[in-house]
Amino acid sequence: MSDSPTDCIFCKIVSGELGTELVAESDQAVAFNDIAPHAPTHVLIVPRRHIQSLADLTESDAELLGEMIGLANKVARERGIDASGYRLVTNVGRDGGQEVPHLHWHLLGGRALKFRP
Ligand code: 5GP
Ligand code: ZN
Repeated sequence: MSDSPTDCIFCKIVSGELGTELVAESDQAVAFNDIAPHAPTHVLIVPRRHIQSLADLTESDAELLGEMIGLANKVARERGIDASGYRLVTNVGRDGGQEVPHLHWHLLGGRALKFRP
C-alpha cells in the first residue's frame, strides 16, 4: 500500500497533525520517541510516505532503506548508545506483532535486551 490513509496514526505524526516532537529527520524519513517505551531509548523511525510494512518495499526503495538505517544510527550516536549497543527491529504483519500498519523500525537501547530472536 502506498496511499496515505487519513486514519493512519504515523501519517498524522509525519504531517505534524499530532504535534509529536521529531528527534531526527531526513528527506524521506522521520524519527520520534515511542509513546510507550520498552527501553531508555525507544525511538521509531518511519518513512514519510505511507508504506504498510517491510514486505511492501521493492528494489526502488533501496535509498529509503539506507536513509532509515542511517537515521537510526545517527539517533543511536546522539543518545550515546552506539558503544553499548542497540537493536533495530521491524515487525511485519500479525504474527510479527505489527500493530501500526505503517512501516517503522524500533530503535531500542540503553539497557541489556534479553530477548534472543
Ligand atoms: P508495532 O507493534 O506496530 O511494531 O509498534 C507500534 C509502536 O507504535 C508501539 O511501540 C506503540 O507504543 C507506538 N505508538 C502507537 N501509537 C503511537 C503514537 O500515537 N505516538 C507514538 N509516539 N508512538 C505510538
Ligand atoms: Zn501511514
